[in-house]
Amino acid sequence: MAFQNLYIHFPFCRQKCLHCSFFSYPLNSQEELSNFFKVLELEIELYSQLFSGQSIETLYLGGGTPSLIPPYHLARLLEKVNNIFPFQPSCEITIEANPEDLSYDYLRAISSAGVNRLSVGWPSSFAGHLRALGRNEHLTFLADKLDIIRRAKITNINIDLIYGLPGQTMLQWEKNLLEVCRAAPKHISVYGLHLEEDVPLKKLLLQKKVAATPDEDTLLGMMLLAREILSSNKYLHYEIANYALPGYQSNHNMSYWQNKTYLALGPGAHGYLYCCRYANYCSWQQYKDSLLKRIFPCSQKERISRKRAMEEEMMLGLRLLEGISRQQFLQKYGLDPLHLFQTSILMLKEQGLLEVNDDKIKLTAKGLPLANLVFQEFIT
Ligand code: SF4
Repeated sequence: MAFQNLYIHFPFCRQKCLHCSFFSYPLNSQEELSNFFKVLELEIELYSQLFSGQSIETLYLGGGTPSLIPPYHLARLLEKVNNIFPFQPSCEITIEANPEDLSYDYLRAISSAGVNRLSVGWPSSFAGHLRALGRNEHLTFLADKLDIIRRAKITNINIDLIYGLPGQTMLQWEKNLLEVCRAAPKHISVYGLHLEEDVPLKKLLLQKKVAATPDEDTLLGMMLLAREILSSNKYLHYEIANYALPGYQSNHNMSYWQNKTYLALGPGAHGYLYCCRYANYCSWQQYKDSLLKRIFPCSQKERISRKRAMEEEMMLGLRLLEGISRQQFLQKYGLDPLHLFQTSILMLKEQGLLEVNDDKIKLTAKGLPLANLVFQEFIT
């Protein structure tokens, strides 16, 4: 089986947010959108020569802002994918969405097209924070928006929250968390604001043109507060940045943390097939030119050796709070990770960052906020 998970990257947004380093840019016309889908179909057809009939268990449409896709294009895309990579009966079909785009009629249309999970970006309920990110600051109450989504028969909803925003206080963060809990989505992702060097918000912060971001101690407090509030509201903390009601973990993202292979399509998309991680061109022109010549639009490929795959398995698997199963690792690679990474595991255990029981190797509560340091020990 080559893969069972498919990611499609939609690169357009209404406008570029000031903190964003994803491959995305403003959508200027409907013609641009139609051209995008024509070229994306060429990529799907190219891969159909290799994998036609391969059924999939998850499809994730990320971006960018896929909720800008008109229902007609979305229905056509899902039909095209389903014809070539048939959806398994319980296929999880997620699209990322901007709350501004979610009218009842739009939601009904995309639900009829097959979308059964929505991942909604809701960085904060405070206008000042949204302004600092360059986002529309006129949002309605989250609970009202979620009511509309549920009435449109999409009940599997994720909310993406961000902490560490310019000027954000602990009290504001607490209010955001409580508001999200009241709205009761099935899944909540909690990310710390991460700024690449070249994003405009980084410059604005250096020039003190926006309020400073919280210091390291406050960030740690925010992360812990999220764990405390979400856990006490019955959300299971199952991955470093992800919480879900029982049974509602993201199947698509689980495939990444379980180090499975997946097909990724669209400009700027990253995939993992046949022991090879690849990246598509982060340029519309190069992506399009390549596909018009019927050439795979990959700009980078990296062969993943067996050793590297085992290291990545540790790094990704330790993101899950249930940890790594030694038994499953043994079945996959024929080696016990406890022996393979003996020195690193013993050292991290002594430092109180990892715990090991009969089958599982996992982060401790002390290791959670230091996860990146732990991961470094497994990558050579
Ligand atoms: S909406 Fe999302 S993808 Fe688009 S610019 Fe803003 S943060 Fe980036």
